[in-house]
Amino acid sequence: MIDLALVRGEIAVIGLGRSGIAAARLLAREGGRVYASDAGSSAPVAQAAAELRAAGIAAECGAHDLARIAAASLVVASPGVPPEAPPLLTARAAGVPVVGELEVALRSLRGVPYIAVTGTNGKSTVTALAAHLLQALGHRAVAAGNIGLALSDVALHGERPEWIALECSSFQLHDTPGLAPAVGVLTNLSPDHLDRYGSVEAYYADKALLFRNATPASRWVVNADEPRSRDLGLTADGTRWAFSRRDRHASAHYDAAMDALVLFREPLVPRAALPLLGWHNVENMLAALLAVMVADDAHQSPAARSTLAEAARTFRGLPHRLELVGDIAGVRWINDSKATNVMSARVAIEAMTQPTVVLLGGRHKGEPYTSLVAPLQHHAKLVIAYGEAEALIAGDLEGHVPLVRGGSSFDDIMQRARAAAGPGDAVLLAPACSSFDMFTNYEARGEAFRRLARQAS
Ligand code: ADP
Repeated sequence: MIDLALVRGEIAVIGLGRSGIAAARLLAREGGRVYASDAGSSAPVAQAAAELRAAGIAAECGAHDLARIAAASLVVASPGVPPEAPPLLTARAAGVPVVGELEVALRSLRGVPYIAVTGTNGKSTVTALAAHLLQALGHRAVAAGNIGLALSDVALHGERPEWIALECSSFQLHDTPGLAPAVGVLTNLSPDHLDRYGSVEAYYADKALLFRNATPASRWVVNADEPRSRDLGLTADGTRWAFSRRDRHASAHYDAAMDALVLFREPLVPRAALPLLGWHNVENMLAALLAVMVADDAHQSPAARSTLAEAARTFRGLPHRLELVGDIAGVRWINDSKATNVMSARVAIEAMTQPTVVLLGGRHKGEPYTSLVAPLQHHAKLVIAYGEAEALIAGDLEGHVPLVRGGSSFDDIMQRARAAAGPGDAVLLAPACSSFDMFTNYEARGEAFRRLARQAS
């Protein structure tokens, strides 16, 4: 872990998003000399820079002072900044170490145990669930990291937590050399971010960095149903536990005969009692329960088990993840805007129990859409392909499933969906693409869906 006491010169923070701002403030609070910059100059970025300056921190927007960055002793990169961005290239060429915001925050929160959650899909859900379960057990626990609350903000504000559920993207794993979780969870692995990684192997290699500081005391939770994730980091020190949708030998599994989630050979909660839609959420629940139970032996006592079972029933899902936004004139409108890759769209489609109009589209991320054919044939009444990826999606699916092209006006797309869906049907936004062709992020896309769906009433 980077020892800030040894960092003598200036620390350059790259990117003035949520986590960059928090990291700059945290570093300054801890006595670091900080220069924060962002190439953008939108109103929020300009305001962030002004607020940092008001707090006595050197900050600029609209440009990076590359010479200043090259002369820094340490560079702290926000997760959104790609490795080939000029300030990071400059830093590397000048031999300046580059770390992510998590590294800075973890150092400041040293001593607080955390459950680190990574994987291609389900990270936010498992992270939020783990925090919810830990809280139910009476711990002061927070969910932070990639889920939206910067870990540096946790370090800056409020009481020190007793536990942290920490969502880590592959980019964050790459830039956090000091990551050493009490429990590390790998939800699953499938190709993603091919737009940013040169190869799928490079993406998986970053995911394997979860295990980088393994010790004999480390605890790992892996997915027994996927050989690739089950075996990642197999040689790492520590103890491994597995969750599975079907394997009765896994410490956490779904038992079809009992229709229940079984943890350490005892049924814990009936499947029917879980509030979340879809089999993938059974997996997410198994992963989170297992992680929390292995985090501390006390979490496996009979009293803890019944608390966990109750907490599993009361978890309300996160927005933009199979979120029911309305039941309007007999049509269920479901917002899964967070399904930004093909695998996540597939599980969302598979979770549908009604004839469904599926909205697929946005900015293409590199994967083919052909694996959606089978689930769409089962569940889709109509596919509306739209946005930049429209032609690619249509090329992969046309002739196999009913499909129309929706263009790139989200209002028009929603009108088509409304016209196609009748009572007893569902409309599902599960785009399998990023949102950046038409929206600033997946939240904005989900909010547009929610608003336009409700206008239908
Ligand atoms: P992440 O943080 O990894 O993006 P989320 O929990 O935010 O994951 O879920 C994003 C989307 O991924 C969901 O809307 C759902 O469509 C899909 N998803 C969630 N959990 C899983 C899982 N265990 N396996 C596959 N897909 C999943």
